[in-house]
Amino acid sequence: MKTVRSYVGGKWIDSSGARTVLVNPATEEPVAEIAVGAVDWNAALGYAREVGGAALRKLTFLERGQLLRAASKLVHQHRDELIMLAIQNGGNTRGDAKFDIDGASGTLAAYAEVGQSIGNARFLVDGEGIQLTRSVRFFGQHIAVPRAGVAVHINAFNFPAWGLAEKAAVALLAGMPVVSKPGTSTALVAHRIVEILVEGNILPSGALSFVAGSVGDLLAHLGGQDVLAFTGSSDTGAELRSHKNVVASSVRVNVEADSLNAAVLGPDAARDSEAYAQFIADVSKDITQKTGQKCTAIRRVLVPADALEAVREDLGERLATVKVGNPALEDVTMGPLATARQLADVKAGIARLREETDSIFGGDGSSFSGDAPVGVPKGKGYFLSPVLLELRKGERGRAVHAHEVFGPVATIIPYSGAAADAVELVARGGGGLVSSIYSDDRKFLGELALGLAPYHGRLFLGSSKLSGHAVGPGTVLPQLVHGGPGRAGGGEELGGARGLAFYLQRTAVAGDKPILEALFRAGEKSSNGD
Ligand code: NAP
Repeated sequence: MKTVRSYVGGKWIDSSGARTVLVNPATEEPVAEIAVGAVDWNAALGYAREVGGAALRKLTFLERGQLLRAASKLVHQHRDELIMLAIQNGGNTRGDAKFDIDGASGTLAAYAEVGQSIGNARFLVDGEGIQLTRSVRFFGQHIAVPRAGVAVHINAFNFPAWGLAEKAAVALLAGMPVVSKPGTSTALVAHRIVEILVEGNILPSGALSFVAGSVGDLLAHLGGQDVLAFTGSSDTGAELRSHKNVVASSVRVNVEADSLNAAVLGPDAARDSEAYAQFIADVSKDITQKTGQKCTAIRRVLVPADALEAVREDLGERLATVKVGNPALEDVTMGPLATARQLADVKAGIARLREETDSIFGGDGSSFSGDAPVGVPKGKGYFLSPVLLELRKGERGRAVHAHEVFGPVATIIPYSGAAADAVELVARGGGGLVSSIYSDDRKFLGELALGLAPYHGRLFLGSSKLSGHAVGPGTVLPQLVHGGPGRAGGGEELGGARGLAFYLQRTAVAGDKPILEALFRAGEKSSNGD
């Protein structure tokens, strides 16, 4: 059986310590084991900072971008193998697996382009120089340089490939070495990607380390030049950001956490409109893609009262076509949840939502249509039917705005059709990653976009003319920021070159204008790049 090991200090760590078995969530058969080794984090982080970081900082953005391009190609070359692993260890359908793995290679390639567009520089000159007093000599210039520490990335279980790549691409381009820890239960894909990159020998030694299983006392060894980027539940995010040493050493922290993403159907979007069709397609896709285990998935579906009947019917019809079962079978369109714990958590979450909702489709998740789940030994696997709930008449909702059920579950929330009512309901979610609005009424779109923007990192405006030209709100794009305020963690990642800021130290340099210009402006190419 495959053993998932840590890779630190430029080598794979052999461990005789405790083993955790990774299973196929469709069949519960073991697929790999994790060797949880005691890592000497003082030494491992030192190697990453001193060897990996130093090597990366010697390269220009262009050269670091070339490393990312090579990494993207390697991941893409191993696409089929990685898809198989995602099916086995993640419960992904082939489509789900492609979403994760192509997301990884695509984000690496996108940041290779960012590196190319920045070009031959080792640091960034930030904005124009500023005359600071009445003297024309006294001048200020902001620059942004790679931090001299290590970037620790702790990822959620749901996107083992994309999660690793989207964070690593930005940090490596900025010039920081990475220590990446995947969610343990689905670590096989992330581990294989690191193996592929190590075998390909494209990154400087120490630029990428990998943690199998628990991080142990890693956080206690972080210092003021290091950064910690976390994706996962709000509870773990809160625990990590309040870690004693993280606080004491002012470790820069980014948290990507839960989100009760909403989709709002505009009152103008008639049943026969393209905007309505896009809404139905996006909601049903988000309930079922990755079995609903997507941080950007639509959880709250806001529908004007007079469109409720149509939406119930159309979503119900779509969900009835979902074939739940072993994702290794081609005709299966929704696999299991990733772990037994996930299944238990989702069932408990549905019970909580049921206190204020009625079930429109799927009951409490245990009633499958047809003979599902198909292709698995009887009683095996962490399966659930898609579930569509509806907030009871007269309710404004409590749990539905407060509790993220991380599975194939969404709730219809009736609203009056007025923009202000929709904003008030969506804002109850306490801050989210993305919400979407489906309408051809520009006034409505404008009111909602500006009303919802303070509560979100991203908004998606679906309209009839856009239909067929856009990926839905559930797809995180490297050009756009990802993150959100409040419940969503208060973080921000990606967004093209914007994402680099987390890994760079912005420094204001004041001095004699000709010297500053020679260092950072006139001589930018020779002192910075060549
Ligand atoms: P989780 O239980 O919080 O775990 C996330 C990661 O943190 C895992 O790698 C986990 O490792 C690690 N971890 C847990 N406790 C830790 C500790 N004390 N010290 C260091 N690391 C620790 O979340 P999850 O169940 O994997 O993911 C589901 C959640 O992630 C959902 O709430 C979802 O909304 C959120 N999510 C958010 C985004 C986003 O971009 N905002 C994206 C994806 C998922 P182990 O696996 O070894 O426990």
